[in-house]
Amino acid sequence: HPSRPAPPPLERISHVTLVGQGNVSLDVARMLLTPPSVLAKYDVPKPVLEVLERSNVQHVSILGRRGPFQAAFTTKELREMMNLPGASMVPLDPAYLTAPEGSLKLTRQQSRTLQLLQKGSNNKPGTTKKTWSLDFFRSPTGLTTPNNAGDKARLSLGHTILDPSNRAVPTGETSTLETDLVITSLGHHAEPSAPWYDPSLNHLRTLSGRVVDAGGRIVRNVYASGWAATGARGVLVSTMMDAYAVADTILRDHFPEEDVHTTPISESDAGAGGGQDTPAAEAIEVLPKHVEADTFPPEVEAWLREGRVTDFEDWKAVDAEEVRCGEAMGKERERMVWEEAREFLASARPRNIDITA
Ligand code: NAP
Repeated sequence: HPSRPAPPPLERISHVTLVGQGNVSLDVARMLLTPPSVLAKYDVPKPVLEVLERSNVQHVSILGRRGPFQAAFTTKELREMMNLPGASMVPLDPAYLTAPEGSLKLTRQQSRTLQLLQKGSNNKPGTTKKTWSLDFFRSPTGLTTPNNAGDKARLSLGHTILDPSNRAVPTGETSTLETDLVITSLGHHAEPSAPWYDPSLNHLRTLSGRVVDAGGRIVRNVYASGWAATGARGVLVSTMMDAYAVADTILRDHFPEEDVHTTPISESDAGAGGGQDTPAAEAIEVLPKHVEADTFPPEVEAWLREGRVTDFEDWKAVDAEEVRCGEAMGKERERMVWEEAREFLASARPRNIDITA
């Protein structure tokens, strides 16, 4: 598809290095190491499956600048890596497999991670062609790309230890890792050019899901949930619960139970969704008694015109089309990327909104 970036030539790649030890890293590793015949049953898009079917990837290194107790991945995702069919984890340095002496008590998540690491992968080391490794206390410092096709790139690594505040600091030791492909997976922040983006938070500023502008006032009829409102954290279910809570806020704002002003928004209200970062008290504003649900701020009006914003009708149309294409291919759905969905919507339902009227 013209709007998809060119895929990496996985047929010429045997060693992949992932930088970062979060769940996105483990997701990438799992996609690279799972047999495509297994993935074909799920909603992996066909063009992606075709790339994976040609793959020659044998080893995936997952680099973290800190240790097993600071890794950002969750135990469920680590367990899925341990259970991968046809792949095994390279044994860890035994020094990583005990709780550090004199340390504070491990959290539940840290204890479970330790247990999983001690147990190792279901497939024992040396029994599979494909392998993966968790390379702790390593931070990339440089990359030398090969002069000749077929040669490997050399990734320079600085070895690290934790300082008293658990930050990674260099030990002065270094090593080199030969690899074919380096993928960074270091977390995510919202698009800084987006209106209402707060550079000090790296995401939108919200109060109980209500978007707050740079002047600290609530932007009428604009809400944010999930990563837009909280930054890139939490697993799928946390994002879902946040969306439910913000939907509750929207309903409370637009359909107050009594025909009186809605309760002034207070800081104690911030837990209702998306509001982990409570703005200063001057942001607090009593919502108008009658909110016109059909008026949008100018930014949203422009985006609707440009097709950069979707509404629920659009979502339903895309959903139905994905399911329809999937049926023909014997799978749950065939996902569209954003550009494909835009093209589909532009061709299926030309928008004729005159919002100036
Ligand atoms: P993440 O959880 O924030 O992990 C980022 C990783 O990158 C951490 O290991 C971090 O190490 C490392 N990192 C950041 N800056 C670095 C630097 N300059 N040098 C070296 N390492 C660096 O990010 P993510 O994996 O993108 O995930 C985002 C959110 O989505 C998370 O809440 C995650 O749980 C969620 N998610 C969930 C699922 C799921 O439910 N299955 C799947 C995917 C994502 P430090 O800790 O040392 O900074």
